[in-house]
Amino acid sequence: MTPYQLKQFKSKIQILDAGCHIWTGSVDTHGYGSFYTGDAPRPTIKVHRWWYEYTHNVQLPPWSAVHHYCGNRICVNADHLYIHKNRVIRPSSYINKQKGPRPHMWKQGPNPIHKEMNMSFLRMRAQCKFRKEPFHLTFQDYLEIWGDSWSQRGRTEGSLNMTRKDPMGEWTRDNSVLVLRKKNLEPWRSKARMATVRKRQMEKDKLNTNGSGG
Ligand SMILES: [Zn+2]
Repeated sequence: MTPYQLKQFKSKIQILDAGCHIWTGSVDTHGYGSFYTGDAPRPTIKVHRWWYEYTHNVQLPPWSAVHHYCGNRICVNADHLYIHKNRVIRPSSYINKQKGPRPHMWKQGPNPIHKEMNMSFLRMRAQCKFRKEPFHLTFQDYLEIWGDSWSQRGRTEGSLNMTRKDPMGEWTRDNSVLVLRKKNLEPWRSKARMATVRKRQMEKDKLNTNGSGG
């Protein structure tokens, strides 16, 4: 939230004698105040929740629910807000609604590189399964094999690819290595070249046959 937005935010709070600080801005379908900031991952914030975090200078985990002592949903008086220890938002109710990153759900931790590597690992495992190649690598193996070279992966000739030492063998920790893509592609390229040559020869033969026949 920008300083300007914070000023706007504060200007929408009306302090009543009864003790409640009333939110006079927009209200969501559940009766709680909402405020548009445009910030990712949640452009619209819940006012009481945000104000609790702001005034207590904390970052609440997504499953912590902010409640009102006063029961007034549009109240943002920090003294009226609390987190009920025994009542949190049930996982099923926030998992399905939450947008944006969910680090507590990531299988390989919140490290964005590991997340990317995990996606890549899962894709590779699926491709190997599709090609019916026995796959025994774990994500830990995958991490170890890539080591510090993850940034050098890619599709250009000078970049690294993971392959099997023995192409007929299984995908195991010992049989998997990183090679330059150029080297990895060579057998395929020669195969492809052979196929093209053969195809052209066949077309030529066909033409000749047709020519002599007609
Ligand atoms: Zn209140």
